[in-house]
Amino acid sequence: MNPAAARLDWRIPEKMKAWVLGGPGELKLAEKPVPQPGAAEVLVRVDAVAVCATDLEVISHGEPALIQGGLPFNRNFTPGHEYMGTVVKLGAGVDEFEVGERIAVEVHAGCGRCERCREGMYTACLNYGMNYGDHDKGHRANGFTTDGGFAEYAVNHVNTMVHVPADMSDEEATLIVTAGTAMYGLDVLGGLIAGQSVVVTGPGAIGLMAVGVAKALGASPVILAGAHRDRNRLELGRRLGADQTVNVHEEDAVEAVKRATRGKGAHYVLECSGAPGALDQAVHMTSRGGRICLVAFPREPVMVDVAHLVRNNIYLYGIRGEGRSATRRAAALMAQKRFAAKLIHTHTFPLDEVPTAIRFARERIEDAIKVVVKI
Ligand SMILES: [Zn+2]
Ligand SMILES: [Zn+2]
Repeated sequence: MNPAAARLDWRIPEKMKAWVLGGPGELKLAEKPVPQPGAAEVLVRVDAVAVCATDLEVISHGEPALIQGGLPFNRNFTPGHEYMGTVVKLGAGVDEFEVGERIAVEVHAGCGRCERCREGMYTACLNYGMNYGDHDKGHRANGFTTDGGFAEYAVNHVNTMVHVPADMSDEEATLIVTAGTAMYGLDVLGGLIAGQSVVVTGPGAIGLMAVGVAKALGASPVILAGAHRDRNRLELGRRLGADQTVNVHEEDAVEAVKRATRGKGAHYVLECSGAPGALDQAVHMTSRGGRICLVAFPREPVMVDVAHLVRNNIYLYGIRGEGRSATRRAAALMAQKRFAAKLIHTHTFPLDEVPTAIRFARERIEDAIKVVVKI
């Protein structure tokens, strides 16, 4: 039987359990009214939500979440943006989804009316900076400017949802948005990918998904670089399709990439570590005319050999989140089982134990990678 149908409870209560952010680092389990979907929105019963490194930022420092232009503390705000669930109610004009269907979400709906949204770059929505999350302009980003998924129910715009196949587990479906970010990075690099070399630096959740997506698209070789404490993750990277892994504490990453590419350097580098020296290394491991996409960012300004970048005609890109419907394309690869995304899911906790789930993710307890809360 369809697992969604088996678990479907058609009665929608008036109140729900939801975690809300108090002061910095302070999450409280509260009771909130179940939200109502507006035009082009649906009500989703959240079945699972993954903890993301960005959630840890939001809970401790507030940003990048902003509620009505201010930090999200003490505003009855519910974080969580990597969730999946079951559609339980349709707003006006919705025929893209049906009640009972399983969906996974992406984060950004954008405003749909600014220049960038019209170009498909809705994660770089222009009603997102000064007026971050201007609801009157239609902008919303789940778990950043509007309530997210550490709750029993959440409202989603139809543009932020993809279908989940019946044979994909709830836990794996929470990883679709992470794979979507990796896919967007490869989209932005604009290569043919098949037969071209891709280096991924930083084997966190996005880096590991980038290995899977690049391999599924035919990249060759796929090289994953990580630090000493990432040894298990590098091994996981091999199982996700990396042809070669580099422990940057044991060997020089630039030399290793040069060796693997007949001295030329890689066509594409996806920097997913945010380590202070990573961009400079990326610049030196990219081939002449090659391209670098920054997916993670360091907390401080970094030194980069810009002259090398210019002399070698290397292109440098930055992405924010998962634009241009990349999530839908990543979901298609996962539905086709082109890479075993579920390998990066390591822990599961119930809704009542969100703080424990967050602690496991933050402190990497038991080598945690993706910690999922099942609701
Ligand atoms: Zn995330
Ligand atoms: Zn916009």
